[in-house]
Amino acid sequence: MSDKINIRGVLFDNVTLSEATSLTVEHLAHGDGLFSVFTPNSEIVQLCIEDNGFYPLINSASLVIPDGIGVIKASRILRTPLKEKVAGVELGEAVLKHCAERGIGVFFLGAKPGVADEAAQAMEKKYPGLSVCGTHDGYFEKTGEENDAVIAEVVASGAKVLFVCLGVPAQEKWIDANRARLNGVKVALALGGSLDVYSGNVKRAPKLFIRLELEWFYRLLKEPKRIGRMMKLPKFYFGTWLYRMKH
Ligand code: UDP
Repeated sequence: MSDKINIRGVLFDNVTLSEATSLTVEHLAHGDGLFSVFTPNSEIVQLCIEDNGFYPLINSASLVIPDGIGVIKASRILRTPLKEKVAGVELGEAVLKHCAERGIGVFFLGAKPGVADEAAQAMEKKYPGLSVCGTHDGYFEKTGEENDAVIAEVVASGAKVLFVCLGVPAQEKWIDANRARLNGVKVALALGGSLDVYSGNVKRAPKLFIRLELEWFYRLLKEPKRIGRMMKLPKFYFGTWLYRMKH
């Protein structure tokens, strides 16, 4: 396993995209049990700071990657720099490419009705050989009979890799609550809005924004209703400076 770096209580794996992909596919080939991948950004770290009850959940993942430039900046402020931002949506694609090459079945769970199917079609076209052996939208009761039926679908599909795209923290809670019942699934990735991107319904920021570390700003322009959630970002940033001064 890789080194862990503690950013305000969340233990991140200090990995590049390529290292994160290798660890994930290595588990697919040789690992035992369910390998979970969480992709927190600074909004999630701030959520943990404000409600400490989330720390055990977020830190319980097999792999915790920094999916936000705010976390990378915080790691620099704290003088324990992480190697790079690892976008969950990119890790997801790298895993899909691997699954296509090896004939490993994948299940897409999440997003609005129809989106997971569109994502499956788009990814099967992009990665010939890929088998998305099941999909289900993310708007179901997360406990009880409806949830049991979703789990039964995932297990019956024979998928070894499960994309869980229900938004934060619902997706992390769902993986944690149901991991023992996901028979046959070796890797579960919590990937937020990735199915919206794979389906083509949501565009990622142009490369220039990503290079200038302004992907968050592009997202805000496209989805102004995120402003409430994004108010956590300056709180996290300045809070990290204060934290450094105090410690
Ligand atoms: N979503 C879902 N079920 C829900 C609530 C949300 O499947 O009950 C989906 C939503 O349609 C979207 C994703 O979860 O596809 C969350 O996307 P967002 O970009 O907000 O990701 P986050 O920033 O929360 O990781």
